[in-house]
Amino acid sequence: MKITAEYIWMDGHEPTQKLRSKTKILNKKIESVSELPEWGFDGSSTNQAEGNFSDCLLKPIWLCKDPIRGEDNILVMCEVMNSDGSVHASNTRAHLRELAEKFAKENVWFGIEQEYTFFEGRNPLGWPEGGYPAPQGPFYCGVGADEVFGREIVEDHLDICLEAGLEVSGINAEVMPGQWEYQIGPLGPLEVADQMWVSRWLLYRVSEDYGVSATLHPKPVKGDWNGAGAHINFSTQSMRKKGGMKVIEDACEKLSKKHDEHIAVYGAHNDQRLTGKHETCSISQFRYGVSDRGASIRIPMQTANDGFGYLEDRRPSANMDPYQACAILIETTCS
Ligand code: ADP
Ligand code: MN
Ligand code: MN
Ligand code: MN
Repeated sequence: MKITAEYIWMDGHEPTQKLRSKTKILNKKIESVSELPEWGFDGSSTNQAEGNFSDCLLKPIWLCKDPIRGEDNILVMCEVMNSDGSVHASNTRAHLRELAEKFAKENVWFGIEQEYTFFEGRNPLGWPEGGYPAPQGPFYCGVGADEVFGREIVEDHLDICLEAGLEVSGINAEVMPGQWEYQIGPLGPLEVADQMWVSRWLLYRVSEDYGVSATLHPKPVKGDWNGAGAHINFSTQSMRKKGGMKVIEDACEKLSKKHDEHIAVYGAHNDQRLTGKHETCSISQFRYGVSDRGASIRIPMQTANDGFGYLEDRRPSANMDPYQACAILIETTCS
């Protein structure tokens, strides 16, 4: 019996790492990640090595069903290692792995809202060639062929994510036409970040079949059009219990002192998106508030009413690396 294992990893592209993958044929059904062999690739083709010493190592760390190929085939998320087995400079998961272990007793949960934009050629999907659609307003959570574009791809993506066993918690059409969102979580840090990367791979992969590309650029169209973010909803065990509101406020105060460090890992070109318009707070300011969609951190109304719950960091852009973003949130709020 033969199965395929699609090995997926993050490359060394700058300033934003991209996904790469290749297929390995295996001779038996795989039940757990520990049964999977390590593999290599040519790091000189992915900005991860020089040509004269180019072998990098793929270390399988998480697997799920491959909903594209079906049957017993699998997708395999990998960490990139140097040929001697040490952590490669592009491997951002390794640091999150350490923090997840160090702060395991906090039982942190993350829910990430991934926004993205479909493009067909040079235009956002559904936009008139070389022109603009009607101004924003009717598109968010809209219905109808004149309001939403690409729903068939979105539905396909949702189906395959669920089939793969990913913890998707919802989807919606976004404010800018051709822009959509899905959420993953709540899950622990490694789980949410691994699943986020695999869900992105599935998004790109399924869009291929439609001749459409999905971009995570934070400001895909300049001007009076919403950017694309990746709000991170975050809680620790003590935030979710009675008296949690105080813990959430303390966390916001800690976050206020590390704004620049957070922005540094919240995605490239985020300055184009965090302008203070379009439901964002300016990149040069830090504010938190209840129900405030113009703040850096929003405390949901339900959380304020209950006196416990979670906070929403609205600063991360759609193209952020969830390994780095989750790591700094744990570092800042739990230390
Ligand atoms: P918004 O109102 O900002 O659009 P969404 O419904 O899109 O919010 O996303 C909220 C996310 O927060 C979901 O993924 C949800 O699972 C997650 N979430 C809910 N409760 C918690 C919690 N206590 N800690 C972390 N994440 C949570
Ligand atoms: Mn949302
Ligand atoms: Mn949104
Ligand atoms: Mn949100």
